[in-house]
Amino acid sequence: MDVALATAWLRAAAAAVVDDTDELTRLDAAIGDGDHGVNMRRGFTAVTAVLDGTEFTGVGEVFVKAGGTLISKVGGASGPLYGSAFRAVGKALPPGAQVRPTDLVTALRAGLEAVRRLGGAVAGDKTLVDAFGPAVAAFEEAVLGGAGLPEAAAGAARAAGDGARNTVALTARKGRASYLGERSAGHQDPGATSTWLIFQALADVTA
Ligand code: ADP
Ligand code: MG
Ligand code: MG
Repeated sequence: MDVALATAWLRAAAAAVVDDTDELTRLDAAIGDGDHGVNMRRGFTAVTAVLDGTEFTGVGEVFVKAGGTLISKVGGASGPLYGSAFRAVGKALPPGAQVRPTDLVTALRAGLEAVRRLGGAVAGDKTLVDAFGPAVAAFEEAVLGGAGLPEAAAGAARAAGDGARNTVALTARKGRASYLGERSAGHQDPGATSTWLIFQALADVTA
């Protein structure tokens, strides 16, 4: 992955979030406060504006900048969570204008770890971790098995999609949806759904 591909990924993620704002909001209205689509749109629109105005020499810088922007622009839980994730991804990457798929494995693991540390959610808590975790595991397995970036990204997107759909059956134990207890079951988690969009965007730009 080079700087151009990293920025293309974030732009594709932003476009997907803008397209699916209403769907993310509808999901959050069912088990949260109905702002996830708007939060994500605001954050990712700011990210694209920042990308437009910045020259990057390293891939890691792209993600650090995007993460910082999400943290500062999004009020909801998802801003600090995604922001910390992207910052951790960027900081874990080696310096330079090009990184290898194995570097991305390490970086994505660091991103997931940042979300877990900040939000305290584990697998099965019905959060974005339930899409992010399987996506990173699938990405890692593919890369360690010798797959290139397109194949690994496609596998990660599939795993994120499965993970997001699997949140329907779960009862929320973190975030606003946890206030509903058992009544949160039967609805797909909005954050897991936006994580799926982000990994699908990576698959799309690498295909
Ligand atoms: P808010 O809940 O503050 O309105 P959003 O609606 O933007 O923020 O984001 C809600 C999403 O954030 C949830 O669907 C869930 O996936 C994710 N989330 C909330 N709390 C946590 C947490 N502690 N750990 C991981 N993800 C979380
Ligand atoms: Mg919300
Ligand atoms: Mg909110």
